[in-house]
Amino acid sequence: MDCIFCRIANGEIKGDVVYQDDEVVGFRDLNPQAPHHVLFVPRRHVATVNEFDDADATLIGKLVLAAGKVAADLGVADEGYRLVTNCNGNAGQTVFHVHLHMLAGRVMRWPPG
Ligand code: 5GP
Ligand code: ZN
Repeated sequence: MDCIFCRIANGEIKGDVVYQDDEVVGFRDLNPQAPHHVLFVPRRHVATVNEFDDADATLIGKLVLAAGKVAADLGVADEGYRLVTNCNGNAGQTVFHVHLHMLAGRVMRWPPG
């Protein structure tokens, strides 16, 4: 299996990594949609949110906690930021290794497109 986010997470490909722990890696998006755009991925390959199960509840929480820590480190926690995960075609998922987008540094519109 050739998964670009697995390769970034395991260091095979150099990413702009801003966060890492035993289970989660955060790196800057190649094509940022905001002044700060960081992707948080589980080190373990999970294709979409649909493949998570109850045993992954802690891992899912760790993705959100990592994003919150990086938001604080970047100084955007109080002004605000957006966390979003796209699942499959209608949501526009293009990389099939689960990732949580953290977007910050500009005002976001709602609803999203
Ligand atoms: P999705 O559309 O699946 O929710 O988001 C995929 C994201 O991954 C996009 O924002 C895209 O810019 C980003 N991306 C795709 N390939 C790479 C890559 O090789 N490196 C990094 N850092 N980001 C990537
Ligand atoms: Zn993967």
